[in-house]
Amino acid sequence: MKITLLGTGTPAPSLKRQSSGYLLDVGDDLIVMDHGPGAHHRLIESGHRAVDVTHAFFSHLHYDHCMDYGRLVLQRWDMGADRIPDLEVFGPTPIARMSDLLFGEEGVYDADVRARVSHQSSLDVFEARGGEPPRKRPAPRVKEVHAGDVISGRSWRVTVGNASHVQPQLECLAFRLDVAEGSVCYSGDSGASDEIVELARGCDVLIHMNHYLSGTEPSAAYRRACGSHRDNAGVAKRAGVKTLVLTHFLAQIDQPGVRERIVQEIREEFDGTVIWGEDLMQLTLEAPGVAKVSIGS
Ligand SMILES: [Zn+2]
Repeated sequence: MKITLLGTGTPAPSLKRQSSGYLLDVGDDLIVMDHGPGAHHRLIESGHRAVDVTHAFFSHLHYDHCMDYGRLVLQRWDMGADRIPDLEVFGPTPIARMSDLLFGEEGVYDADVRARVSHQSSLDVFEARGGEPPRKRPAPRVKEVHAGDVISGRSWRVTVGNASHVQPQLECLAFRLDVAEGSVCYSGDSGASDEIVELARGCDVLIHMNHYLSGTEPSAAYRRACGSHRDNAGVAKRAGVKTLVLTHFLAQIDQPGVRERIVQEIREEFDGTVIWGEDLMQLTLEAPGVAKVSIGS
């Protein structure tokens, strides 16, 4: 399994770090977890295209985790020319309604879709790409999932858990993916959570939000929703994961000196490997554990 970090940033504008997105290449399938603004650009930079993606999981519907959903679906539909299966999408409520409002009849992109399925020039391009009219509308196969659900693919299994983020306004999920080579858990956006400790137990890799330097959280509520580096050390230690990948960095902690302090202080509590995530960083997972970490495709 190859894990590519597509976006390790936040909602704040950054050219260095795009918003949240992760790519899991499990051989048979190419799985996206979250697809925030800029994540799709990184997907292309990683050497992949929308048509290569088979499954998309969304942890929660903060825009920095789902704004490139439209780009993924529309580019896949347009370039795929009805020759590839519809994208399979999993996420919390109301991902079904959001999908309908984006891609359905009278949805945000309906005028574009109507033009592309009926204007002759669009149909000519569609046929040149191998499509056979009549052209279908984009129709991602969306399934709303919740903590406790298990989704099985050909060679993988995703278990859904709860994150500790901005409930109850948004349902916020975490995902664990198991394949033959090992296991990776993605916290979504979360503060320290007993549920994530259980979900991530024994994983080779835990990708966890690291929004704050401990002690600088603006409030107790913020700490519960977004956590901090010492909280993450505790989660990784209790879960017994082998590698902790930090992500979702604010610019103020993504600084020389601060980075090193955070990694060192986590290492004082957590015995495993600590990785400061970067956009386009790749981790190759081969039993038993992470075999290679590299930046670039
Ligand atoms: Zn969030």
